[in-house]
Amino acid sequence: MTAPYPQLDPPTRTLLGPGPSDVAPSILTAMARPTLGHLDPRFLEVMDQIRAMQREVLGTRNEATMPMSGTGSAGMETCFVNLVEPGDEVLVGVHGVFGTRMAEVAARCGAKVTTVEQEWGRRIPSEAFAEAARGKRFKLLAVVHAETSTGVLHDLEGLREVADACGALLLVDAVTSVAGMPVRVDDWGVDALYSGTQKCLSCPPGLSPVTFSPRAMDGVAKRGSKAQSWYLDLSLIGQYWGSERAYHHTAPINMLYGLHEALRLVLDEGLEARVERHRRNATALWAGLEALGLEPLVPLAERLTPLTAVRVPEGVDEAALRRQLLEQFGVEIGGGLGPLKGRVVRIGLMGAGSTRRNVTLCLSALETALRTQGVRPRDDALAAADAAYAG
Ligand SMILES: *Cc1c(COP(=O)(O)O)cnc(C)c1O
Repeated sequence: MTAPYPQLDPPTRTLLGPGPSDVAPSILTAMARPTLGHLDPRFLEVMDQIRAMQREVLGTRNEATMPMSGTGSAGMETCFVNLVEPGDEVLVGVHGVFGTRMAEVAARCGAKVTTVEQEWGRRIPSEAFAEAARGKRFKLLAVVHAETSTGVLHDLEGLREVADACGALLLVDAVTSVAGMPVRVDDWGVDALYSGTQKCLSCPPGLSPVTFSPRAMDGVAKRGSKAQSWYLDLSLIGQYWGSERAYHHTAPINMLYGLHEALRLVLDEGLEARVERHRRNATALWAGLEALGLEPLVPLAERLTPLTAVRVPEGVDEAALRRQLLEQFGVEIGGGLGPLKGRVVRIGLMGAGSTRRNVTLCLSALETALRTQGVRPRDDALAAADAAYAG
């Protein structure tokens, strides 16, 4: 006879990495409420509220606005499988892991992919897109708004013009920016956008809020071929989220309760106040990091506030550093990916995790771990952070 399996007992961590981020307690409570049937009238009300709140948070009036079942990558696939047909020309900005993933997904849809490449850690200038698009036609221009692998924010203003010039729909990955930095779908002329629940929405991973402009949905309706994915086919999903309420797949009910509460919290705090909170805490973190002698990868003007990549000083073992943070302080931060592996660590201050208390905890823990490896701080990190809060 085998021993009985122990009851699940995960430790409480402070999640200050690239996601998942710390979950707001009321979201976990919401997720523990009774499961309803996916066509129960009370659940249909929840769905309608989610769609209304999601529109507000994304800054859009798009009818085609709903959460997809699956993580952020499911949102990415949803956009490509619905908007791209085999042979279509697609222009993708690549300056990190997620731009690379977009190009891969587009290619798997049979698109002819052209990339605009940029050094990881720097923004892609709009002129580089304009240059690549000059004299050509594209179905889609795709860019990552907040590149979580490097901490770079892309400036979306100006891209609509470039997309118009080459006849393209504008597709944006806003997985890390939604609810942490300004995202204004309608003002910026974005045609398709996806996010994820586990970054600045502070919900567990499992849903991907998406939105599509009327022009994008027009293209979906006029496709010559069916979308390659049955599960992610917007023309079918829309019949469940729309007025028909037709069964497609069973909605992840309790996960949607979580998103409902997450969106409610964002609107309760206020979008501007939430963005400002992320900015204040990031600014204090940067001041403290500088005092520790840690240099951010990304220049200030191009930097995300929910996620900061910092260079690992010469001689520091970043894996050991992260391990000490986790074991001694229960703090998780992220390592580098791809060409940045071993060269940076990534610190997230996302959603409920973007607090002064976490900035203080993170800086103290980093200082201790650096001292363990014989690196002494240049200056007083906590005093530097305090000064930033006071300033
Ligand atoms: C996290 C992330 C994704 C992928 O989301 P998953 O939830 O891991 O599938 C895509 N794009 C960006 C910018 C992300 O940060």
